[in-house]
Amino acid sequence: FDFNKWMNAFKHYSSAPEDYSTKILQPEDELPWDFIDIGVKKEFLVSEFEKSKKEVMTKDCRVSNTSMCVGCGVCDFDLLRNEFASPGKKSFNGNEFNNMSDTNQEYYSYVIDFEKKDSAVLFSAIETCRVFAHVFKMCDVDMSYSRGYNPQPRISYIYPLSVGVEGYNEKLIIKAYVKDKNLLLNQLNKILPSGFKMKDVRLFENKMADEMIAAYSLNFEAYMQLIGALGEERAFYKKTTKRGREKIIDLKEYIVKKDDENCLVYVKINGRGSFNFLEFFRQINYIDSKVLIARENIFFTEELQNA
Ligand code: SF4
Repeated sequence: FDFNKWMNAFKHYSSAPEDYSTKILQPEDELPWDFIDIGVKKEFLVSEFEKSKKEVMTKDCRVSNTSMCVGCGVCDFDLLRNEFASPGKKSFNGNEFNNMSDTNQEYYSYVIDFEKKDSAVLFSAIETCRVFAHVFKMCDVDMSYSRGYNPQPRISYIYPLSVGVEGYNEKLIIKAYVKDKNLLLNQLNKILPSGFKMKDVRLFENKMADEMIAAYSLNFEAYMQLIGALGEERAFYKKTTKRGREKIIDLKEYIVKKDDENCLVYVKINGRGSFNFLEFFRQINYIDSKVLIARENIFFTEELQNA
């Protein structure tokens, strides 16, 4: 926030902030968002405002048919009208998941391997967890919830991917009162949005690993750029920390191994982050050349030997 820039802008438009902050707006005054057409007419909103001052209720058009229309302006009654959806039919009975929470049993921790590709690459980590939370809810999966004022289903996306990058074996850890992991796998895949697919579900008995290894695949040209830079000791990018200090993120400190035949690079990933390939390509001005990158897999500590 730069106060001076705001004041300069006000001068530019020959107005003072007090004109707005102290003014009691009248219905006919122009509002900054007046140009946004949400369908509801301004006259309708004004009439609602006037009615609210007299404590007069407006009937809810949704509880009846269009004869109850109060003329808000949203419907054209051709392509757009108010209509109740008929009750949906579940593709299966979710009760099969729902048989443990009342028995004081401990929840189970599961690792879910899933695919995130095509349009699903646009979901951030938080959105991905929400997608799974919705799907579990729709299927009545008996999840364990966090405590506190805003309990949330216990779902963690391990070292989430950058938005825009495909992942073929991403990992979620969930805590749920479900004994049969195959039910999770078979049933939930039916309703996950396109781009997401659950590939495996297994019990997770270990503690969360402090460090994991992620395998990234690159298209051949991008891989050769990266390997060339690595050989010349310039496979790094600069990052500015929150405190404004410049930090060099060097691939040498992260790389575990590479697989030239399959254009794969294995890098360490931990709480402090990992090597961001897209940042590197951006800094060498190569990103526009269509770097194709995907995370092929991410391995827990016990799987490192096989990585
Ligand atoms: S029926 Fe449509 S146009 Fe009429 S009040 Fe309801 S939402 Fe508005």
